[in-house]
Amino acid sequence: MRVVQKFGGTSVGDLDRIQNVANRVAKTVKNGDEVVVVVSAMSGETNKLISYAEHFSKNPSKREMDMLLSSGERVTSALLAIALQEMGVEAVALSGRAAGIRTNSIHTSARIENINTELMEKELQARKVIVVAGFQGVDENGDVTTLGRGGSDLSAVAIAGALRAELCEIYTDVDGVYTTDPRIEPKAKKIEKISYDEMLEFASMGAKVLQNRSVELAKKLNVNLVTRSSFNENEGTLITKEEKIMEKPVVSGIALDKNQARVSLRGVKDKPGIAAEIFLALAEKNINVDMIIQNVGEDDTTNLGFTVPQNELSSAKEVMEELNPADKLEYDNDIAKVSIVGVGMKSHSGVASIAFSALAKEGINIEMISTSEIKISMVIEEKYSELSVRTLHDAYNLDK
Ligand code: ASP
Ligand code: MG
Repeated sequence: MRVVQKFGGTSVGDLDRIQNVANRVAKTVKNGDEVVVVVSAMSGETNKLISYAEHFSKNPSKREMDMLLSSGERVTSALLAIALQEMGVEAVALSGRAAGIRTNSIHTSARIENINTELMEKELQARKVIVVAGFQGVDENGDVTTLGRGGSDLSAVAIAGALRAELCEIYTDVDGVYTTDPRIEPKAKKIEKISYDEMLEFASMGAKVLQNRSVELAKKLNVNLVTRSSFNENEGTLITKEEKIMEKPVVSGIALDKNQARVSLRGVKDKPGIAAEIFLALAEKNINVDMIIQNVGEDDTTNLGFTVPQNELSSAKEVMEELNPADKLEYDNDIAKVSIVGVGMKSHSGVASIAFSALAKEGINIEMISTSEIKISMVIEEKYSELSVRTLHDAYNLDK
């Protein structure tokens, strides 16, 4: 089997941990697998390099930042290859450039355009373990580029796609994806398999296991992703095509997003074009509007509410005050969004009503609701966040 194994910053956080990774990789090689390893910089390293640059300049040139930041990953790849060689495992460390990763020229947030796999294929043929420095590539001028913070996940997925690897394992310090945050609900269970779309919903709501861009890329390239811990032997969570998941639970998990704020507009003129005006003004300031509700109008006016990320509330406020589209404007930071996610919802009815009655029983008021094919989101008072998560986790029997 051909596998890509990506080790994040904490997994290679010090020399002992790099040795642990080497041991793990050696074991995979012993199984007869072809292994490409992708590594992050040692944890804290990228931030340290950024602070070095800021010592000299508030606005360092991005091309030079890429020269600087890409070095962190190269250090780890070289050290890991050396550790492997010392154990008698044939290994070769490659920079992003040597691995054939071509990107566009947008320094510090470059996109991968293609991967020339010739050299990697040759080294695999020669039964070597390839250790690629993640997070980086090269542009058409031969300049080093980096892919944006957390970008080694993307390197790993792109390489797995290009080499048609059976599996891309992302090693971090958590065991996988859980039915909800175990710090809130200790009865949360690790999910064995989950679809790309469900994972995207979880990730966009702050489940920090995987970067959203890499899940999107995995979906596009049809890469089977596994997230697991490098600190134990537990199995992890497989993220794959929906069709490959035989037993689909109706609800896979509960996600919580406290980083939400609401804007309420009372007495908005009920006429064509008013919503366009409001949301265009917000879009022009790059404000991310999430949920929107509009009430049934009365006497030519209506009420409208929408949510934005908390750190965008003050900009939203500025936009609204300038536009002045309503009789009364109200802002509320103390809200949270709790969501129920599951592909099984597509073919089941009555899923939402279970949530509504469970929350009602606890006296929790639902202030906004929005749904998609695989998600039901509800805005509640922030102080009920944890209680809501536990209540819903229980209502859908996710601990069973
Ligand atoms: N070292 C880079 C960062 O911290 C990339 C990565 O770890 O994925 O953003
Ligand atoms: Mg990382």
